[in-house]
Amino acid sequence: MKNNFIEIHSPKLVGAPSESGAELFTLDYFERKAYLAQSPQFYKQMAMAAGFERIFEIGPVFRADPSFTARHMTEFTGVDAEISWIDSHEDVMASEEAMLQHVYQTVKDKHGDAIKELFGVDIVVPTLPFPRITMRETIEILKGRGYALPADKKGDIDPGGEREIAAYVKEKFNHDFVFITDWPITVRPFYHMRKEEDPTLTRSFDLIACGLEITTGAQREHRADVLLKQAEEKGLHAEPIQFYLDFFKYGCPPHGGYGLGLSRLLMVLLGMNNIREAVYIFRGPTRLNP
Ligand code: ATP
Repeated sequence: MKNNFIEIHSPKLVGAPSESGAELFTLDYFERKAYLAQSPQFYKQMAMAAGFERIFEIGPVFRADPSFTARHMTEFTGVDAEISWIDSHEDVMASEEAMLQHVYQTVKDKHGDAIKELFGVDIVVPTLPFPRITMRETIEILKGRGYALPADKKGDIDPGGEREIAAYVKEKFNHDFVFITDWPITVRPFYHMRKEEDPTLTRSFDLIACGLEITTGAQREHRADVLLKQAEEKGLHAEPIQFYLDFFKYGCPPHGGYGLGLSRLLMVLLGMNNIREAVYIFRGPTRLNP
């Protein structure tokens, strides 16, 4: 409330995927197909077009991701925020780091002693600003430290690379968090805004905390014609997402936001090695009961 955010609750039964079609749960919906929402992305942006200006949502997110890792679930709680009238993704990062600092401070004040006793962890409230490193610099730094990215990770980094860049940031800046910025368009969705000075890059970021990716964020493309062009370039058909493209028809403020995985944040905060420990009941590819 202090920062004028409005809480929204968007539907989890949806008619079109908001991210890639790859990690999508499909279900029968009367005479047609429906999907479980992979993120509240489209609805967050709809709120920007409607003039809400600052919103957040904390709710379930579904991913038909068949990976068996210590950090993936098929159902998890997403913390999403979206803000209007930004100049760039920098404003989104500034908003997120301030929120996280507040969360760490509040958790430390209220539960610091119990966390120390139960988990043996001293909560360290992060200083602002968090370090920022571009994706291009990240790749150079990893190379310099002898870390070879897998060949299929063109323009992206793998979990080992995330840990290695975190180790570098810890040594150089004594910080547990780092924003990796300016990701190539090849590994970002169509709705990320591209950089004017280099249209092969996006105004986007990931946040790595103690070596684990906990957030993806970006400035969004709010110009209807550019957005349609970017969707077509990614091979998307306009028809299923026409309702989304329509939000931008009569003008939409420049905006951006982020999606944060709550259980991943808990893992980092409490020094847990497995996401299963951070949830009441885990859902994964082979876990539907109890
Ligand atoms: P990853 O590369 O780790 O699979 P992603 O790039 O698919 O993640 P996003 O789509 O950007 O993730 O989602 C935003 C955030 O949601 C992530 O940074 C992470 O904190 C969380 N998240 C994403 N997928 C999962 C998952 N399967 N289980 C738990 N949390 C997740």
